[in-house]
Amino acid sequence: MSELDEIREKVDIVELISRYVALKPSGKGYKGRCPFHPDDTPSFYVSPEKKLWHCFGCGAGGDAIGFLMRIERLSFREALERLAAELGVELRRSGEREKLLEINAAAERFFRDALNSPEGKSARDYLLSRGLGPEVWDRYGLGYAPPSGKALLSALSRWGISDLEKLGLIVKGERGYRDRFVDRVIFPIRDELGRTVAFAGRSLSGAEPKYLNSPNTPLFEKGTLLY
Ligand SMILES: [Zn+2]
Repeated sequence: MSELDEIREKVDIVELISRYVALKPSGKGYKGRCPFHPDDTPSFYVSPEKKLWHCFGCGAGGDAIGFLMRIERLSFREALERLAAELGVELRRSGEREKLLEINAAAERFFRDALNSPEGKSARDYLLSRGLGPEVWDRYGLGYAPPSGKALLSALSRWGISDLEKLGLIVKGERGYRDRFVDRVIFPIRDELGRTVAFAGRSLSGAEPKYLNSPNTPLFEKGTLLY
């Protein structure tokens, strides 16, 4: 059994979620108010049998790891490590792939913070003009790549140039490395486990191309994922 399967099997999803959401028995499972959207209904259901949760209001759902990632804003690896420690499951050392996912998670947080910063105003205005409000930004992890061209590079430099380049987050130009995404609204591209494997950026300044994607990387091959 993989360590992931072991965690999924051992975790008490009702206990985990009830640390954050007041749950009441309902049918075969439990229900409560969704922590991810304003919810008076309540429309958030947890199935101990399937070990899954789902919100019929906002459509969010997933397993215990996905819940923890979302509510605590953790990367997949961080959530996995936290649950593993609680459940006494021993994890193998984080491999290359996990490290790259970790960096993408850090990049996503960087873009999100930038969207909510004064610099992100044009991006917020753009999203609002498309009818996409803060709830949607949060749900899909939308962000903003600042216009300086070096912002992400300097924020994530501790991860090392070569991995940032491998992920297509930075590119080498005539004057050294710079951010791939500059003055763009950022849409994370996620895999089936909710992990961010790539990014798409929509130009705000009229710069071409209008939509710029991550290149093929060890985590992402174009055409193999839908988002
Ligand atoms: Zn919801």
